[in-house]
Amino acid sequence: MRSKVSIVGAGAVGLYLAYKLASDGIDVTIYDGKRNIRDRSDTASGILSKRGLERFKIDYSAALLNELDGVVIHVNRKTMKVKAAEPRAVVLDRGIFAEILMGMAEDAGAEVLLGKRLGKEKIAEMIMDNESVLVGADGAVSAVASAAGFDGIREYVLTYKAVFDGMSIEDCGSAELFFSKSFAHRFFGWTVPYSGSALEIGLGISDSAKTSSKTAFSRFINEEVKDKIGMARPIGEHASMIPISRRKKTVKENVVLVGDAAGQTKSTTGGGLIFGMACADIAAKSITAHLRKGAKLSAYERMWRSRYGLDLRLHDALHAYYSNFYGSFGFFIGMAETIGLDRFFGRYGDMDSPSLMIKRFFTRSV
Ligand SMILES: Cc1cc2nc3c(=O)[nH]c(=O)nc-3n(C[C@H](O)[C@H](O)[C@H](O)COP(=O)(O)OP(=O)(O)OC[C@H]3O[C@@H](n4cnc5c(N)ncnc54)[C@H](O)[C@@H]3O)c2cc1C
Repeated sequence: MRSKVSIVGAGAVGLYLAYKLASDGIDVTIYDGKRNIRDRSDTASGILSKRGLERFKIDYSAALLNELDGVVIHVNRKTMKVKAAEPRAVVLDRGIFAEILMGMAEDAGAEVLLGKRLGKEKIAEMIMDNESVLVGADGAVSAVASAAGFDGIREYVLTYKAVFDGMSIEDCGSAELFFSKSFAHRFFGWTVPYSGSALEIGLGISDSAKTSSKTAFSRFINEEVKDKIGMARPIGEHASMIPISRRKKTVKENVVLVGDAAGQTKSTTGGGLIFGMACADIAAKSITAHLRKGAKLSAYERMWRSRYGLDLRLHDALHAYYSNFYGSFGFFIGMAETIGLDRFFGRYGDMDSPSLMIKRFFTRSV
C-alpha cells in the first residue's frame, strides 16, 4: 500500500497541491531546483481573476502589485476598450506569491526541499518506487512526463518579456492586448501596468512560427509600443514558454501530472495559475482517496476533465478563431461599440470561464 507523495516542482501549482495534501495529513515532500523560492524572474508577475482566486482562500495581499478594471484590445489597428465597474483582476508578484504558498505548505506539515533539481535517473527511480505516488508539477517541459513516457504537448507559446520602469502610465488600471499576424503568430503582445510607473511588455508566438520570440518582440515594440516606452529602459528581459494544449493522459500507474506539466492552461491567454491550482485541488482529493481507501488514481483524470473540459474546449475554439481569422476578429473589434460588445464584456466578462459568460449572456435579463 502506498503511503507517501513526492512532488517534483515547487511552482504555484506544486506548492498548492503540497499544502492541500499536508492539510489532509498526507506525508508529502516537494523538490525544486531553485535555491530561493522567490527566484522566478522569467514569469515575474501574474494576472489572475479576483473571482478565480477567491475560492482558494489565500491571503495574497503581500504579493499584490496592482488591480485591473479594464482591458484594451487591438486587432489590425481596430480597438475595443472594456471597463468594468470595479477591479476584476489582480497583478501579483509571483515570487512573493510562491513564498506565501510555501509558508502555507510548510505550516500544514509538508517538507519543502529547495536546491534539489532532480535528474532523469532519480526521477526514474522514484517512478519505480511502488510505495509512493509521484507528482510531476515541474512545468512546461516536464522531466517527470518524459521519464514516465507520457504523450507530448502539441503546441507551445514562446514568450519574451521586459519590464520598463520610470514611465508615466496614463491608465494604470488597464492591460492592453495586441493581435497581429505581423508580429504575434497565433498569440498576442501585451502590456500590463505594475503601477503608475512600471509596465511589463511581453509577446508570445506559437512554436510553429518561423522566427524567434526575441525578433518578434522587437517587431512588436517598433510597430505598436515604441511611443509608450519613450526613453524608459528595460530592467530585465526574459524568454520562456507556455503549453497551450493538454496532454492526452495525466495519470499513469503511480505518476500524476498537474499544472503546466499536464498542459492545464487556457489556450486563449496561456494563463495557467487558476486552472492549475483548481486541478491540484482535484488531484489532492484523488490522491488522498487512493492512499486512504485504495481508490484509483485515474479518478483525477476523469474529474478534472469533466469539471473543466467544456471551458478548456471553449478556450481552444476562441484561440482557433482569433489565430486563424484576423480579418473577421478585427471586424468585430471595430464594431464593438456599435453592437455593445464592450459593455457586455465590461459587465459579464470572465477570463476563466467562457461557459459562465455565455450563461450570463442568456440569463442577464432574468
Ligand atoms: C511570460 C509568462 C507570463 C505568464 N503570465 C501568466 C498570467 O498572467 N496568469 C496566469 O495565470 N498564468 C501566466 N503564465 C502561465 C503560468 O506561469 C503557468 O501556468 C504557471 O507557472 C504554472 O505553474 P506550475 O507550478 O505548473 O509550473 P511552474 O511555475 O513552471 O513551476 C515548475 C517548477 O518546477 C521546477 N522544476 C522543473 N524541473 C525540475 C526538476 N527536474 N527538479 C526539480 N524541480 C524542477 C521549476 O524550477 C519550477 O519552480 C505565464 C507564463 C509566462 C511564461
